Amino acid sequence: MARSRAVMSIYDQPMWKSIDAGKWQLQQCDGCGAYRYPPGPVCDKCLSMDSTWRDLSGRGKVLSWVVFHRKYLSDYEPPYNAVAVQLAEGPIVVTNLIGPEPEGGWIGRDVEICYEPDAEGHTIPRVKLAN
Ligand SMILES: [Zn+2]
Repeated sequence: MARSRAVMSIYDQPMWKSIDAGKWQLQQCDGCGAYRYPPGPVCDKCLSMDSTWRDLSGRGKVLSWVVFHRKYLSDYEPPYNAVAVQLAEGPIVVTNLIGPEPEGGWIGRDVEICYEPDAEGHTIPRVKLAN
């Protein structure tokens, strides 16, 4: 059975290190200020190769969501959700909402990043409803 695991490239390593430290960082373009996700060598907005790693605010909003009722991965027992979250800094990430589910609709709900260990001791960023 497949296991979910971080796919690691040379551009991903600083990001996953920051996540392991409990403070997710992404590259902010030195040319136009856009945040890059996934990490990479070039800004997709202005093509600048210069960037600086910056802490994320930890805030975002739910753009879309789904609940899976079938088992696809051994470490995800159904039912479980997946949410697309637009970070306050702009990038869209896909993760899981933990804790209480939203009442009265998921889309547009404010969430905050939280960090959870996986079965192998790595840290996975997830989100929970913001207070
Ligand atoms: Zn740029």
